[in-house]
Amino acid sequence: MRQKFIFITGGVVSSLGKGIASASIGALLEARGLTVMLKKLDPYINVDPGTMSPFQHGEVYVTDDGAETDLDLGHYERFTNSIGSKKSNFTTGQVYDTVISRERKGEYLGVTVQVIPHITDEIKKRILDVDDGIDIVVVEIGGTVGDIESLPFLEAIRQLRNDLGKEYTLFIHLTLVPFIKSADEVKTKPTQHSVKELREIGIQPDILICRAEKFLTQPIKDKIALFCNVEKDAVITAKDVDIIYEVPLLFYKEGLDEKITRLLNIWSRKPDLSKWEKIVNTIKSPKKQVEIALVGKYVSLKDSYKSLNEALVHGGIANNARVNIRYVDSEEIESGTLEQLDGIDGILIPGGFGDRGIEGKIAAIKYAREHKIPFFGLCLGMQLAVIEISRNLAGLKDAHSTEFNENTPYPVIYLIEEWIDRENRMQKRDKFSNKGGTMRLGAYKCLLKQGSLAHKAYMQDAVFERHRHRYEFNMAFRKTLEDCGMEITGISPDGKLAEIIELKGHPWFLACQFHPEFKSKPFDPHPLFKEFIKASLKHRQEKSKWKKK
Ligand code: GLN
Repeated sequence: MRQKFIFITGGVVSSLGKGIASASIGALLEARGLTVMLKKLDPYINVDPGTMSPFQHGEVYVTDDGAETDLDLGHYERFTNSIGSKKSNFTTGQVYDTVISRERKGEYLGVTVQVIPHITDEIKKRILDVDDGIDIVVVEIGGTVGDIESLPFLEAIRQLRNDLGKEYTLFIHLTLVPFIKSADEVKTKPTQHSVKELREIGIQPDILICRAEKFLTQPIKDKIALFCNVEKDAVITAKDVDIIYEVPLLFYKEGLDEKITRLLNIWSRKPDLSKWEKIVNTIKSPKKQVEIALVGKYVSLKDSYKSLNEALVHGGIANNARVNIRYVDSEEIESGTLEQLDGIDGILIPGGFGDRGIEGKIAAIKYAREHKIPFFGLCLGMQLAVIEISRNLAGLKDAHSTEFNENTPYPVIYLIEEWIDRENRMQKRDKFSNKGGTMRLGAYKCLLKQGSLAHKAYMQDAVFERHRHRYEFNMAFRKTLEDCGMEITGISPDGKLAEIIELKGHPWFLACQFHPEFKSKPFDPHPLFKEFIKASLKHRQEKSKWKKK
């Protein structure tokens, strides 16, 4: 069978949840027994989001094969069994990069290189680059219809309908149907305009997904259908929800998967959504509660820690608990006291770059260590835990990472200037190297120490976890720190890179150099998050016992 393509565009405004809508469509089709692959096309000029600030772009999601991608790929992996790769996300920057280097090599044989057909051909080639065994490819086009920069992408998918035919391509458009209070009415005009704009560039959507506060009534759906030239049952409400994992269930109720499979002429079974119902129920009415402090720099922008927030929810699901996150700005700790950590059940320090708020995070780690509060450090969080232990347990005054202090007398975290990448190639870098693409990126093997917290959590001797960092633990300090109770419980197969550290004599103090949050799923919570939440629940229980006494 040849794969079929579903193209998802967005209109009216951004942030309507196109990523979640695409992921939910993938989930519904999987629940029908189909194999899906999801792709995100980003119209911006950056080659990848790796160099963008999380304030601008939200989290950078990392795939197994080391691509730095859009955070929507995180939703795709959490909602479906598809595994993202370099093929799953591309940008205008990448497309132009390829076309221009081809032109420089003289491969266009003297012709004038143009947006149509050369740029659009390259976009089509990348869309059509699909893994074997896939039935349906869900392709999300970033941006909003009407943006100048997304035009070549829309032109490419318009052409693909002609190239592949109607039964092999489907256009879904996500719009907003706002409720206007003063008129006490929902308004369909923005949707009509957005579809008109799409039609002007040659795309007639087959299905409209309308984001709205409430379910749209049939007369409203009929009106939208009439004005937008779609079938009446092709107008689907995407009602606002509190829990993102409800979206596939809602789409199913609205008949979206039925309509998609009918239009694409696919025979498949009715979806089995029982596992979705189950997790939504657990999230809605958990038996327990726990409060975790997330001490970071980007706490005002939740999108910067998207996967992390989800992984904590998953850790909660595994323990039948609601995880309440207390966002603590590390700069505020620096300028004030640690009061914000009062009564907390667990402390988590996420990954990050740059030296803002670093000392506040180190102070939070010290607090967790001394008060025996469960502590979980991720990437930068592990590096700072090492610094805290070095300074305060090993007495290495002014120990630091060379990322923040090049002249530290004790560079316990440092830049490895020669390293082997995932493809076994020797790489060189120093502090002057390009910022883009020079990190340790993607999944690396990590061997676990018997009897450690990590080994108990994973119940495996070796795991693969995803990385995104330049700096590493400096093994020259291993002995000194081990003498103070720190243990390396996860290590690279060649024994050169510390991947997990733990602290003896503390109920749960674990930090890892990788980003476990990228691999957590609602149906398969990450073992480290599961155990961290479990330890935090235990701490909470013990605290309440002390209070009673
Ligand atoms: N800034 C640190 C490094 O590059 C940590 C990065 C991270 O937390 N992802 O090594």
